[in-house]
Amino acid sequence: MRPGKVICIGWNYKPHVAETDAVLPTEPIVFLKPSSCLCGDGDEVRIPEGVTNVQYEAELALVFGRTGKDIPEGEAMSHVSHLAVFNDITARDMQTADRKAGNPWCLAKGMDGFGPMSEPVPLGDTDPASLDLFLEVNGELRQRGNTSNMIFSLPELISYVSRFMTIEAGDVMATGTPEGIGEIRRGDTVTARIPGVGSVTNRIV
Ligand code: MG
Repeated sequence: MRPGKVICIGWNYKPHVAETDAVLPTEPIVFLKPSSCLCGDGDEVRIPEGVTNVQYEAELALVFGRTGKDIPEGEAMSHVSHLAVFNDITARDMQTADRKAGNPWCLAKGMDGFGPMSEPVPLGDTDPASLDLFLEVNGELRQRGNTSNMIFSLPELISYVSRFMTIEAGDVMATGTPEGIGEIRRGDTVTARIPGVGSVTNRIV
């Protein structure tokens, strides 16, 4: 089933804030990607003509099992049914220009294929607050992080977003990327991986 929305969190790891010249957030930075950006393991990701400096961002994704509004932090994780690994692919030059101009960066984040996601696995006994994240390009390690280094915890993110926006069953939340972002070019193979959760590999064309 295709999720109604993909909720994304920006700048949720301190070293990543520094590497993008952003300001340390005092509240979660929230944006959406359209569900049409989603693709799976093995799918090709096409960079449209004229789009430059496309970058990877490995992230932990939560899949929600039930609908909630004004969810208290103490109940937040009971709304999560599955985990996945997500690659928040971004057309960085376009996003940077949009940020400078004060415009929305919807297209820079929302292109077809810019949301590779692994097959979701049931949350079960996994502690999503202490998972290693890895990203490799052509087999070379580029990103390494751990979800324990998030600025806003998963319950804080869920509770915060649900104050403003109903989180519906099936929705996905990508929870931010650690440091080490970089460019992917046509011909590259990119893998985002969270041991115990899964991996998603895509060729850039
Ligand atoms: Mg991201």
